[in-house]
Amino acid sequence: MTEHTKTDGLPDTLPDLSATPVVLDKSRPRNERMATDKVECNACPVLCQISPGRSGACDRYANADGVLIRVDPVVLLRRTLAEPEATLVAFASRSDASAEASQANPLAVQDEIFVTGIGSSTTYPDYKPAPFIVASQVAGVDMVTVVTEGIFSYCSLKVKIDTDRWLGPEQANVRCQGEVIGHVTTAEYGSQMLSLGGVHHLTGGSKKEGRVTCDMMLKLSNKQAVELSIDGGAQLIVQAGKAPVVNGVEEQRMRVGCGSATVGIFAKQFYGLADEVVVVDDHITGVLTQHQAGRCLDMRASGIKIRGRKSTPGRYFQVANPGTGWGGTDLTDPLTIIEGFDADHAWPGQRVLMVSTTGEHKAWFVLDDALVPQPQPMPPAVQAVVDRIGENCEPSLTTVLFLGGAGGSLRAGVTDNPVQLTRRIKQAMVNVTCGGAPAYVWPGGGITVMVDVMRMPDHSFGTVPTPAIVAPIEFSMRLDDYRALGGHMEHVRSLDDALARGAWHNDGAPTSRRFELLAAANPWPLGQPPLLG
Ligand code: SF4
Repeated sequence: MTEHTKTDGLPDTLPDLSATPVVLDKSRPRNERMATDKVECNACPVLCQISPGRSGACDRYANADGVLIRVDPVVLLRRTLAEPEATLVAFASRSDASAEASQANPLAVQDEIFVTGIGSSTTYPDYKPAPFIVASQVAGVDMVTVVTEGIFSYCSLKVKIDTDRWLGPEQANVRCQGEVIGHVTTAEYGSQMLSLGGVHHLTGGSKKEGRVTCDMMLKLSNKQAVELSIDGGAQLIVQAGKAPVVNGVEEQRMRVGCGSATVGIFAKQFYGLADEVVVVDDHITGVLTQHQAGRCLDMRASGIKIRGRKSTPGRYFQVANPGTGWGGTDLTDPLTIIEGFDADHAWPGQRVLMVSTTGEHKAWFVLDDALVPQPQPMPPAVQAVVDRIGENCEPSLTTVLFLGGAGGSLRAGVTDNPVQLTRRIKQAMVNVTCGGAPAYVWPGGGITVMVDVMRMPDHSFGTVPTPAIVAPIEFSMRLDDYRALGGHMEHVRSLDDALARGAWHNDGAPTSRRFELLAAANPWPLGQPPLLG
């Protein structure tokens, strides 16, 4: 066995190729000044010259006794959901793979196997056909899937962090290891949003900024944790599918709604238990008796006067500054937002609940004879409704969407006439997946895809030191449509053939493969839009 640089989760050794004939890619020009035992990798513009037993700068390719190989296995998806966990299939030599392909084995059920771009390798320059163009049949229809690992210089991550806590001002810089790698973008309902990475940070700053950006994107895309800081804001640890950690505290709850929504949802349950309810929220603070919900219940005016800007009845903006206190404000004492009570309407003994949008912060007051709220123990019935608010909060999570522009040169690996691919995708004749996970294709020009990394197999992403992100992408369509859009028909191969011989441009290098079961939430990639029409 030949030692090589270990990559996470991969075998420690390269396959023994001593019995395998060495066949270098015919389309790969040799550098005359390169040592004869080196292999030049031309899978990206870096063009590493790799010594025997070593891997290239990205750890994705290696020189195994003169053969350039892709060290990660190609990931295949199996549709069979009966098995408890993914089956790992060991490295196989070319002859083993051929023998396996000819026997009764899982590959025989072709519409149950899907070749993903993960580990499939890249082709460079762009006019070369994608490494795998795989034919299959689905419900009697001839299909083809064009499979590649795209190199994305134009890509970013949209990170949704379920928390009310204020992470930093909109447009503030987000840093990783001191480098600016993104910014805070528009907050959404119950979530703070970050836009990270992108071509500006990958290529437009210093070399270190580009490298740190690329490393950060790789980790987050591969579901690993990353530490971030926001200028003028919070320290964060974020990881796809996990609760965010804000200033060292793990977030628990995503709010049930804004202050106004919370009033609306629980008004009936508070009715009779409290004379006034204020739901404190950095954006829209709700006041029950003034709110339409309270009016519909015919609640008596409480006379409460709230600071901030009144929007519509019972809905107030800017009651405090943003922060990590009550309802995403900087409040530690909720009474700060109450100016007082109008003596014409308020009465001694009035019961006032103040609560945050997650139910985490709550306080119960009763007005004294001077109409000043005095803290009192919260009655169990009121506490039960506050608990109900908490019960309706979903667990706080971090979501990472990878967003990449596949509308550029990558299309040439699919067709000689790239605009045809773009058009067929927009016409829903081509199903686009990333590592088998459904990808949302943005309307408008180009092929801008967005995918939830949690729906993709682990370790789907890689990098090249240009720097850029390597991400799997697959285009599935009817074979007839592929022919019509100017596809590389001479490179269409059966699944068995593709797996036995490996990527066309690496003929001679064995293909190892790893099976993953299809994630239950994902639709089977074959038979999606192209079969619907
Ligand atoms: S960085 Fe990786 S893909 Fe690019 S040439 Fe080197 S080994 Fe090949």
